[in-house]
Amino acid sequence: MLVGRFAPSPSGRMHLGNLFTALLVWLDVRRAGGRLWLRIEDLDPERCSWAKAEQLVDDLRWLGLDWDEGGLQPQFCQSRRTPLYAAAFAKLQAAGLVYPCFCSRAERLAAAAPHLGEAGPTACPCRDLPEVEQQRRLLAGERAAWRVRTPAETLTVQDEHLGEYAENLAADCGDFIIKRSDGVFAYQLAVVVDDAAMGVNRVVRGRDLLSSAPRQVWLHRQLGFAPPQFCHVPLLLAADGKRLAKRERSLDMGALRAACTAPELVGWLAWLAGLQAEPRPVRPQQLIESFDWRWVPQTDIIIDVEKK
Ligand code: GLU
Repeated sequence: MLVGRFAPSPSGRMHLGNLFTALLVWLDVRRAGGRLWLRIEDLDPERCSWAKAEQLVDDLRWLGLDWDEGGLQPQFCQSRRTPLYAAAFAKLQAAGLVYPCFCSRAERLAAAAPHLGEAGPTACPCRDLPEVEQQRRLLAGERAAWRVRTPAETLTVQDEHLGEYAENLAADCGDFIIKRSDGVFAYQLAVVVDDAAMGVNRVVRGRDLLSSAPRQVWLHRQLGFAPPQFCHVPLLLAADGKRLAKRERSLDMGALRAACTAPELVGWLAWLAGLQAEPRPVRPQQLIESFDWRWVPQTDIIIDVEKK
């Protein structure tokens, strides 16, 4: 049985791009007669809030999307699942794969999924610190983030929509953070632990996370889990090539709900996804039967807001 999930972060109001992904996740699971979880990725207490999670759930319901489990159920909220991440962290640590990093740069973002232009390989000098030196600095109270030691190994992911994607973990990704110095576990670890614990075998999400797939597959294997199948979808971009979330307030759910009905919005999204010839109003259920990934573009989609 196919088990999928939609895993948004309640760090702001959802926008057209999130809805596009949500609709495709939903159609993928419903077409296959599978099960769908809604997981709230509220790891970062500074960026996420319960009120935003409630808003997110309300926005998805308004759109006409449903899920089989999750949403505001505490066991589906990452902020409540810390003991599971701690156990996985301990396992990696016991395998000698984790080291403390005393550099402060870039760790702030580790709890959030790395979207377009937000991540790059980092060669960390802390990798080679002798253990006595690590201990000395930790005991002196120095704050450390925790990185995993990635191997010089090429990992190939067979993406169901975009095809083969390969990365050399050491060269292309580098040692990545799995726990921040403030104790917050990073997105990369949490997402792997949760997908495994929740029996997720199919991950549909925006293609900016394609480059996270090899390191997630690697983490799955280190932790003894079976990696899911991946299926990355194109992004909706503003005319200048930037992500909509960063550019267009007029395309967040607040503005969209004020400007159109749910069937109008779903119709527009379905048209952008190649699922209907015109942006005419439609309900999600009406799209299930004819849903086929072959219609969905593989390249990013530019939204001309003026013409909308
Ligand atoms: N929570 C992530 C986001 O906000 C998505 C994670 C995933 O689908 O793996 O984009």
